Amino acid sequence: MFDFAKGSIKFIRGGKYPFCHSVLVDDRNRAVIDASSDKDKLEQFKDLGPVNYLITSHAHEDHLAFNYLFPQSKFCVHPFDAPHFENVESLIDSYGDMPQEEREKWRGFLENDCHYTPRRADLLLKDGMVMDLGEVKMEVIHTPGHTKGHCAFHFIEQKILFTADLDLTKAGPYYGDRTSDIEQTIRSLERLKTFEVEIYLTAHGKGILEGDPEHIDRYLEVIFLREEKLIDLLSKGPKTLDQIVQEGIIYGNKSPIGPWDLTISERMMILKHLSCLESRNRVEQEGDVYVLRN
Ligand SMILES: [Zn+2]
Ligand SMILES: [Zn+2]
Repeated sequence: MFDFAKGSIKFIRGGKYPFCHSVLVDDRNRAVIDASSDKDKLEQFKDLGPVNYLITSHAHEDHLAFNYLFPQSKFCVHPFDAPHFENVESLIDSYGDMPQEEREKWRGFLENDCHYTPRRADLLLKDGMVMDLGEVKMEVIHTPGHTKGHCAFHFIEQKILFTADLDLTKAGPYYGDRTSDIEQTIRSLERLKTFEVEIYLTAHGKGILEGDPEHIDRYLEVIFLREEKLIDLLSKGPKTLDQIVQEGIIYGNKSPIGPWDLTISERMMILKHLSCLESRNRVEQEGDVYVLRN
């Protein structure tokens, strides 16, 4: 039933978007982290005994699809992301500005495909907090950047780190939400590198990796490469935001995934890169064009 197990820690690979991989803890206290993988397997786990904690790494549509299977569990989330679980409009707001029609599309998708069900947090996650699940002591690591309340989870004795959506895939990190932040993403990843573990579990992609910080370095490299490509483009002359977005530096020319229009994410993420470069005085906005400074 499990794709990975070490002691009471189990791992279920999910499908593709809008699903993710789940981490389960089958200990004196039982827990599910990111209940958005495989409905049947999650139900089987639930049938084996009460699930005390339903823990979520962050508020995104692909991490909540089967939360509704665990109404009795204590729902745990970081306070920065908690409001997005209480109200679907708050979650849609977190994605950034979008026309009404686009919001409708998201609302329908969240409620019908992702089974979004409003839920209040029972326990707020905090950086450094250790949850005593029995043999398993799980440390919460607040790793903002992807979302403001994104958390990773460190299984201290078992030497396992669940990095959630800092997912170490080739595609690289996502930081396209309203409160996403590139500098914070970099700091969070640098911090994850300091944990000496044997296994990295992630919420997407392969999901199970050797605990080698080089995986994190390669992932960080994607951010620096995106910036280099942007600088390279601007070195050829000033460009408008539309012209930059058309280059597809981040996502190429991929078609939408569900309601997720990648050109909107491309635009949001390029804007974050531009403001990073502006804060370092590498780029200046003149009218509607961005100009590279030396
Ligand atoms: Zn996410
Ligand atoms: Zn995700």
